Amino acid sequence: MLKVCNLTTHYASSQALFGVDLEIGAGQVATLLGRNGMGKTTTINSIMGIVSPSSGSITFNNVELVGSASFKIANLGIGLVPEGRQIFPNLSLWENLVATASNHLESADPWTVDRVFELFPELGERRKSMGNLLSGGEQQMLAIGRALMTNPKLLILDEATEGLAPMVRQKIWAALNRIREQDISILIVDKNLTDLLKIADRNFIIERGRIVWAGSSAALRKDEDALHRYLGV
Ligand code: ATP
Repeated sequence: MLKVCNLTTHYASSQALFGVDLEIGAGQVATLLGRNGMGKTTTINSIMGIVSPSSGSITFNNVELVGSASFKIANLGIGLVPEGRQIFPNLSLWENLVATASNHLESADPWTVDRVFELFPELGERRKSMGNLLSGGEQQMLAIGRALMTNPKLLILDEATEGLAPMVRQKIWAALNRIREQDISILIVDKNLTDLLKIADRNFIIERGRIVWAGSSAALRKDEDALHRYLGV
């Protein structure tokens, strides 16, 4: 479904990605792991067209994404939950959800505000609250709901549970399990390795702008050398 080949990305003269390769199949959950500053956000932002890759190819259902505007990439069916959530602070929770509602791929059973509230009941209770008055957990649930309102085939989460209380994290993992059951592929960046490995089909580790390890969760749990060398655990 998503195929990233030999991707390089620069910030001015500083190179951040040095030939990233990764693939996510339809219905798969993949993780992108790595220590701080290794290139996870740059990879995600390159996929979304938020930063422009210098070379390489990114295809989504065989359509080349490199060179396309972010909104066109989103319209092809990729939903982003960005680092820092980026909730619209001066819109209500409900307005945040309807602001992005679209069904470009003509899903027969599109996401609605009510379906998002069914996934995250706590959001329904706060529907009139302004974005800037929501807690971190509510904002993260809203960021996921907002991305779902675009009816994506691939959901990308940059820091899925960063800074959230353990109970809220568990709600996010449970919701992601339900989302995957609806035939949505997921690419997740997060630091909670134990939870990540439970949900992931495939894991990619990035080190200084290169994928240095790829494999199943079972293989990664067993690979103490990779865990220690690349993730410091
Ligand atoms: P973190 O977990 O800290 O978010 P990351 O793995 O997502 O890290 P990136 O944010 O992609 O890493 O950063 C990769 C490299 O690119 C780092 O060396 C970083 O300093 C650099 N970088 C990131 N954003 C910019 C920018 N806007 N301008 C210049 N360099 C940047």
